[in-house]
Amino acid sequence: MKRIEHFIDGKIIKGLSNKTSKVFNPATGEQTAEVNLASKADIDLAVEKAKKAFLDWSKKPPAQRARVLFKFKELIEKNYDEIIKLIVSEHGKVYEDAKGSLTRGLEVVEFACGIPHLLKGEFTENVGTDVDSWSMRQPLGVCAGITPFNFPAMVPMWMFPIAIACGNTFVLKPSEKDPSCSIKLAQLFKEAGLPDGVFNVVNGAKEAVDALLINKDVVAISFVGSTPIAKYIYENAAKNEKRVQALGGAKNHCVVMPDCDLDQAVNGLMGAAYGSAGERCMAQSVAVAVGKIGDNLVNKLKQKAQSLKVGPGLDKNSEMGPLVTKEHLEKVKGYVDLGVKEGAQLVVDGRNIKLQGYEEGFYIGGCLFDNVNKNMKIYKEEIFGPVLSVVRVKDFDSAVNLVNDHEFGNGTSIYTRDGDVARTFASKIKIGMVGINIPIPVPVAYHSFGGWKRSLFGDQHMHGPEGVRFYTKLKTITSKWPSGLRSDPEFIMPVMK
Ligand code: NAD
Repeated sequence: MKRIEHFIDGKIIKGLSNKTSKVFNPATGEQTAEVNLASKADIDLAVEKAKKAFLDWSKKPPAQRARVLFKFKELIEKNYDEIIKLIVSEHGKVYEDAKGSLTRGLEVVEFACGIPHLLKGEFTENVGTDVDSWSMRQPLGVCAGITPFNFPAMVPMWMFPIAIACGNTFVLKPSEKDPSCSIKLAQLFKEAGLPDGVFNVVNGAKEAVDALLINKDVVAISFVGSTPIAKYIYENAAKNEKRVQALGGAKNHCVVMPDCDLDQAVNGLMGAAYGSAGERCMAQSVAVAVGKIGDNLVNKLKQKAQSLKVGPGLDKNSEMGPLVTKEHLEKVKGYVDLGVKEGAQLVVDGRNIKLQGYEEGFYIGGCLFDNVNKNMKIYKEEIFGPVLSVVRVKDFDSAVNLVNDHEFGNGTSIYTRDGDVARTFASKIKIGMVGINIPIPVPVAYHSFGGWKRSLFGDQHMHGPEGVRFYTKLKTITSKWPSGLRSDPEFIMPVMK
């Protein structure tokens, strides 16, 4: 059985703990590896090495750090196929989808290559007579990232390339469900010339996370995962005086207006609801049918959802792969059972799908509910599977209120041809990322990613300019070089003259 260990101080190491967790290939249901689960001592070792590495790395000129990132980018490109296959083999998503997510991660590396420009401060000559003032951004120290299973490459890559480009060192605790990808990225980064200890990957679960939260040398924590854990991370990181950004779960609504290009909306919704088997924080899991469009929308979605091609991620014909684990499959099926009990109309039922040759894989077909209402649990809670709920509302204002009243605020979209409606939607909606005739409005690497409400605890989004701000501290210097007579003591609040 393959063993997945830790990557600390430039080396693969077993670690001190004997605890392990199973890693599966979701397409076949077979266990493919055991991953070591770090103890507090393993985390403390990684942090100690990262703290030591910070002394030199933080002093390197940004242009030198950028050169390592350029090389890292090149190595990722050379190893694209291998990394994508690692994602598919442990997460289950289809090859092209995994490729897209890796490309999104790579774009953050490309953004981080511009770090000399991004770290430029501001300067004002003569804020007072012969007094100048300037600001600069400096790295924080050892930063940690804790990441979810659904994007084993992209989400860690939202964090560590920028943190490291800014001069920090990093300890990543990836999801124990699909850990291989992070180890591969760490090896490539070392090959690119990154000094030992700057980027460390420690596998583990709650014990490892708790050790990061209490380690006084970890100065900042970036988290992405479910809302209850995001809240836990936010509270405990803050209690331990760390900077924290904790991104949580989602329930994204796609508002379908009666005037829209319906085929475009249906195609957008199909990809956004069922792509990656719905295991995306930007998945559209609620379609809000406004006015008379409901019947047409449901009929078109029904036809497409029934003919979704479900299969293993490496099969070129598959549009949707399996779910990540058997437990998650049972949870998603449980939500479909619940929806039926709650009185929603199950228009497409994917629960009993069986694939020849892959009978033990964690598959579920696309599911479609109509007549879902806002009091149902299947509407309120995040299912994180290929289950699309249609809620019918009478008008645009009701749609806006529905979206705004939901506890989550990650992403949303509107399909319409009316610019006025689209503009009002973008302005009024209480959501972090908004699409107008765009189904999955994930910001590109040089903008920033993040939700509102209970989809993000903390105040800075990830990557882009927000990422640079999160991973640096601002320092402002006011300076005067005395020429001639020195001034007398002044006991009032200094005012520039
Ligand atoms: P999760 O919250 O179960 O796990 C995330 C991380 O937290 C993992 O590294 C895990 O090991 C750790 N963890 C789990 N339980 C813990 C505990 N009790 N104490 C401390 N640490 C713990 O999330 P997941 O199932 O891996 O990922 C799916 C969730 O992530 C969904 O809710 C999804 O919406 C969310 N997500 C959000 C975004 C976003 O940008 N907002 C992006 C991707 C995924």
